[in-house]
Amino acid sequence: MDYRKAEPFKIKMVEPIKLISKEEREQKIIEAGYNQFALKAEDIYIDLLTDSGTGAMSDRQWAGIMMGDESYAGSRSFYNLEKSVHDIIGYKYFVPTHQGRGAENVLFPLLIHNKGDYVLGNMHFDTTKAHIELKGGVAVNLVIEDAFDTEKEHPFKGNFDLVALENFINGKGADKCAFIIVTITCNSAGGQPVSMENIKAVKKIADKYSLKIVFDSARFAENAYFIKKRENGYENKSITEIIKEMFEYGDMITMSAKKDGIVNMGGLIAIKEDEKIYEQVRSMVVPIEGFPTYGGMSGRDMEALAVGLREVVEEDYLEYRIDQIEYLGQRLIDVGIPIQRPVGGHAVFVDCKKFCPQIPFNQFPAQAVCVELYKEAGVRGVEIGSFLLGRDPETGENLESPMEFLRLTIPRRVYTNRHMDVVADALIEIWKRRDMLKGFEFTYEPEVLRHFTAKLKSVR
Ligand SMILES: *Cc1c(COP(=O)(O)O)cnc(C)c1O
Repeated sequence: MDYRKAEPFKIKMVEPIKLISKEEREQKIIEAGYNQFALKAEDIYIDLLTDSGTGAMSDRQWAGIMMGDESYAGSRSFYNLEKSVHDIIGYKYFVPTHQGRGAENVLFPLLIHNKGDYVLGNMHFDTTKAHIELKGGVAVNLVIEDAFDTEKEHPFKGNFDLVALENFINGKGADKCAFIIVTITCNSAGGQPVSMENIKAVKKIADKYSLKIVFDSARFAENAYFIKKRENGYENKSITEIIKEMFEYGDMITMSAKKDGIVNMGGLIAIKEDEKIYEQVRSMVVPIEGFPTYGGMSGRDMEALAVGLREVVEEDYLEYRIDQIEYLGQRLIDVGIPIQRPVGGHAVFVDCKKFCPQIPFNQFPAQAVCVELYKEAGVRGVEIGSFLLGRDPETGENLESPMEFLRLTIPRRVYTNRHMDVVADALIEIWKRRDMLKGFEFTYEPEVLRHFTAKLKSVR
């Protein structure tokens, strides 16, 4: 028996949540135009929209909030955070930012020198791609093919396709490539990890062509945990040893601290040793984020992050964390509901192309399941598919996403497995009547980022 899989914490403070009646839920989702982003949080029972900034802080983090030093320059909280970053990540230089995209906004213009330069990633997160494009770069996804086969049990579906990576560099010329970005875990591929072997091989290619490696490291601790559990030779290494080794193969990191930092807001840039880049980052961060010893974060938030970074690398925490995702995933697998396998680090991704094949991509099958889930049990998930993807800017046609996912994203330390049972039970009910599900069409469609504000109606 592994007793460590239960919560390695007890609950000191609770936040009430409420399941409103079925009639009310039906009314609320109509008023929201069948768009879960337009729902009020208070009308939601279990909110699995995102794991970003939704984690529960510990008593030690809250104590840190009281201890925060709000000095404009040289805050004690900055130095506490610097020590955590140094101890855990191991890089020499560090600058805080208000969140992950703040880090991207400061760092990327320093690395993308020419319009049209390529940034090579396993699979770019959407704000990362947007920041690359805003700086004139072109984001290229080079994740392995297996990432798109939801039934294939590959332990590291976030891996780079190494042959494709090297062919791409040879084909376009290394001078046309700005840098390589390794996203750990690979959010867009379903929270799937990248193996140490793959990271090492990417580093080898990077060295051969003199390219720098940036880690997009929002879920760095979850990635390290998967390496420990799934990769030969790492079972006896500590999580912090694995983290240090991963980052040893890179040059810089950007981090959204809203995920594995277990804070509600925050981010950072860390640089291994390149003093020149660090100096550029330090001057850039001032007009964009703030003075380099706060960079968009209040002192109290830096203090909470300093503690969060130390808590997230604790193995019993990670054991519990990943086990909870697996618990939900397994309940769905047991009845045959198709999900991305194996489950990733922060969410269960339901494959809705297979869940309701009668709904074509341009009527958004995953949105249909998402709406049903809210109506069934007040649970909010999110569509990651063709609704999110949008239209081809040239032809105006709906683009077809390779995957139609309903993402059930689990906030850190917030819900119990009893809550996971509610989610599973509700989805199982919907699974039983899946043939009756209908797709959606627009009644209002904004030109950009439509999935946040669009209004829909059911296709008759
Ligand atoms: C969340 C996230 C970001 C952006 O971070 P924010 O804090 O939301 O700005 C970048 N990359 C990845 C992989 C992420 O998950």
